[in-house]
Amino acid sequence: MKYIGAHVSASGGVESAPENARAIGANAFALFTKNQRQWVSAPLSQKSIGLFKERCEAYGFDARYILPHDSYLINLGHPEEEGLAKSRAAFLDEMRRCEQLGLRLLNFHPGSHLKKISVEECLNRVADSINWVLAQTQGVVAVIENTAGQGSNVGNEFWQLRHIIDRVDDKERVGVCMDTCHTFTSGYDLVEQYDRVFDDFGTTVGFEYLRGIHLNDSKKALASRVDRHDSIGKGLIDIEFFRRFMKDPRFNDMPIILETPDESLWSEEIQLLRSFE
Ligand SMILES: [Zn+2]
Ligand SMILES: [Zn+2]
Repeated sequence: MKYIGAHVSASGGVESAPENARAIGANAFALFTKNQRQWVSAPLSQKSIGLFKERCEAYGFDARYILPHDSYLINLGHPEEEGLAKSRAAFLDEMRRCEQLGLRLLNFHPGSHLKKISVEECLNRVADSINWVLAQTQGVVAVIENTAGQGSNVGNEFWQLRHIIDRVDDKERVGVCMDTCHTFTSGYDLVEQYDRVFDDFGTTVGFEYLRGIHLNDSKKALASRVDRHDSIGKGLIDIEFFRRFMKDPRFNDMPIILETPDESLWSEEIQLLRSFE
């Protein structure tokens, strides 16, 4: 079975996210558990936590299909000690918020080398950061998202995801989220080479680590290394890809999240995807 939703707004409190997800006919969703553009946010209130859990239960959202996303400021591969320490502390806070909400996954962009260290060194730092955070928390899986490779972002090639996973001590608590826009613009041809791309993912990373999908079309071309999402069927990833994806059982039983730019289309996009199943 496919679990599909979108990255919905949590403005007004995390408890608004399940409401917003229900309104678009979703059975999965993503959210920020704090303001994604600030380093520090107020702790979650007991009231918010209670309402969030109550609504998830009432609307049938299982924690397995909720994929919270961390702040964009965090760089777990930061080349400098101060930036690294700040990022790790913020990521630990994000993990603890997930624990409080009864969530099991936390999705994050691996990091950026800022042209100061090598890709490998940056990836090693990301892995060290994950180990540091996992040792202080319980039950939440660190879910690494592949990137478009824009600027100095790491994580755009499958081997880089594997490089991080190999260095994480607790393999049960590390996973991957594949973003289809990022995959395409980082150079993997999902349209012409569907089988080859996923075979490559399977052998290099392993489907056992795949914990979620960001299902986005792309405004930018294959291998452009630019991250600009588009609505399903409106961008440069042929609709045939989405048809095949929806019939592919390798993507069952995990959150499939739209991060497409026009929120008013989310419920139609979900219906379109459902029609391909
Ligand atoms: Zn994404
Ligand atoms: Zn993106």
